[in-house]
Amino acid sequence: MLLFTPGPTPVPEAVRMAMAGPTVHHRTPEFEAIFKEARERLMRLFGMDECVMLASSGTGAMEACVTNLSAKKVLTVNAGKFGERFGKIVQAFGLEHVELKYSWDTPASVEDVKNALAENPDIDAFCIQVSESAGGLRHPVEEIAACIKEINPEIMVIADGITAVGVEPIDTTNIDALIAGSQKALMLPPGMAMIGLSDTAVEKIGDGDGYYFNLASEIKKQRQNTTAYTAPTTLIIGLNKMLELIETVGYDKFYRDTKARALATRAALEAIGCKLYPKIPALSMSAVYDEDANAIRSILKTEFGVNIAGGQDHLKGKLFRINQMGLIPVYESAWVVNAIEWAYERLDRRPYDGLASKVFNEVYFKNEKQ
Ligand SMILES: *Cc1c(COP(=O)(O)O)cnc(C)c1O
Repeated sequence: MLLFTPGPTPVPEAVRMAMAGPTVHHRTPEFEAIFKEARERLMRLFGMDECVMLASSGTGAMEACVTNLSAKKVLTVNAGKFGERFGKIVQAFGLEHVELKYSWDTPASVEDVKNALAENPDIDAFCIQVSESAGGLRHPVEEIAACIKEINPEIMVIADGITAVGVEPIDTTNIDALIAGSQKALMLPPGMAMIGLSDTAVEKIGDGDGYYFNLASEIKKQRQNTTAYTAPTTLIIGLNKMLELIETVGYDKFYRDTKARALATRAALEAIGCKLYPKIPALSMSAVYDEDANAIRSILKTEFGVNIAGGQDHLKGKLFRINQMGLIPVYESAWVVNAIEWAYERLDRRPYDGLASKVFNEVYFKNEKQ
């Protein structure tokens, strides 16, 4: 079965093998050497000067960023399940909250953020997804972040890049915290979250907040190549291997291949009549609005050995989402769009003529060469 959900993603064999060794004690020079290597690689991935790894799913890192980087009032963007979650975290900790709410296909606008900041001069943090996975939407994060810093450089810009870090290069000039998760673009098993931090963020964190998710404790320890509490050693060994694989490919080629696969998948789907859901699609996944989404997913699973994701909440049964994150062999992506075309024939929507594969190949090899 090909796992083509936008998280979790399949773990490459070399990474599984690296994680198959006997358990290493986390307070040993052997493990600290691996930790150091993983940490340095992670900072290169983020393009930031500080980072922490946390034994938690991605949501833990979202929570840590909110609690450690805001003391007063947080502006959040809700254009899907994960943006909504930032708001719930803010409320759970009793911070003041302003939310910009959008339909799940619509990116946040610089104008709306500007207006919210003008009306609420006491906002001290801003939270947004780079890629909102609920609808496969790309927010113009870099543009919004630049605008916020121009208005008030003290406002902390928290970007959830769980389906964006490792998908495309992200300009972190105006971002203070950039979040990644193990089970999405980094092709690791679930259970670890990572945060890239700006110098301003480290300063703002000061003594930190809370206990387990106190980022000051983690920064202090991780600078010494260890963690405040027991490290998820197996996942860190896997992360180190995964980043080594990506560095062997080279970041330029890695991002170029992902983009080429994403554009080819999009073009192939549109060619056979699929309606892409988001107004600005992220490179991490293709989200297609389709009333037959459940039937299509079921045909893919039973006849073609492909597992793709559906929609959530009001889009349950009306959306299917195809992953594009990670080191995916291109023939697998080509097989997936081909399978969608077959599903359309099974549902009497369109006779099969191989158009999806043809368009996929044309677009992929044109972009991959550039
Ligand atoms: C998956 C995901 C998360 C985190 O989810 P966890 O289940 O806590 O790992 C957060 N944001 C986005 C955009 C995601 O795709």
